[in-house]
Amino acid sequence: MSAIDTLPPLREVIAAHDLRAKKSLGQNFLLDLNLTAKIARQAGDLSTCDILEIGPGPGGLTRGLLAEGARRVLAVEKDARCMPALAEIANAYPGRLEVINGDALEIDPLIHLTPPIRVAANLPYNVGTELLVRWLTPKDWPPFWESLTLMFQKEVAQRIVAQPGSKAYGRLAILAQWRAEARIVMDLPPQAFTPAPKVHSAVVHLTALDQPKYPADAQVLSRVVAAAFNQRRKMLRASLKGVAPDIEDRLIAAGITPTQRAEEISLERFCALAREVAR
Ligand code: SAM
Repeated sequence: MSAIDTLPPLREVIAAHDLRAKKSLGQNFLLDLNLTAKIARQAGDLSTCDILEIGPGPGGLTRGLLAEGARRVLAVEKDARCMPALAEIANAYPGRLEVINGDALEIDPLIHLTPPIRVAANLPYNVGTELLVRWLTPKDWPPFWESLTLMFQKEVAQRIVAQPGSKAYGRLAILAQWRAEARIVMDLPPQAFTPAPKVHSAVVHLTALDQPKYPADAQVLSRVVAAAFNQRRKMLRASLKGVAPDIEDRLIAAGITPTQRAEEISLERFCALAREVAR
């Protein structure tokens, strides 16, 4: 499949539709279609899936996803100025691109999608983290998505894949790694974007597991992990005091020394502790 389509270069599209980047919408566009095709390939085999893309902007990643063979793309974009540029892409790929002009934090895209579904996005970082947390904490598991391929500020990407003992290890790592495999698959320098942001970025690919890696109740695990990392410098017997009255006994039963700190505790031990707390 050719990575580059026959539509005009993105710089021309942006000039033709006067799509000056708006800071308020976190607009840092990817204009190199070789790069967007490469990001699209990180999402895996697209030909058998519907793709949910959040924040297509002028459509660089959208074009990458379609040129790389996505069965169908549903793109949700808040900025109405982008609609004519996205309509041109829809015309070039009949029946394969649907665009919704709306806020991804408010609309439910699922009625427009047919499983299996993968998610791909280059989003403003604040919206990206909020959506990631929502996608990782649905009421039922497995979730609606098979995989998430998401651009983040590099520091956030590192928090998602962090291992115990590192500064980046915290709630996001536990949340992401409990029920998904999470990897950083690409690093991007600021110059890859127009305009260039201040920070480096990275693409994270998450694959949903059928079952959590270790059994635990999602709400109890979330409560324990939040309390542990809210006071990450404190020993767990102190930071978790409010979680259960006999927390020292429960820590020991979970194989944790009560004087340890949150960032030393593996996902497996946190799940064991959540089971002890729920007992
Ligand atoms: N995907 C394009 C690219 O890679 O060039 C644009 C990326 S830009 C970082 C983020 C895009 O998300 C912008 O087009 C912005 O308008 C859009 N956006 C921001 N907040 C949004 C929201 N809440 N819902 C949907 N789109 C949003």
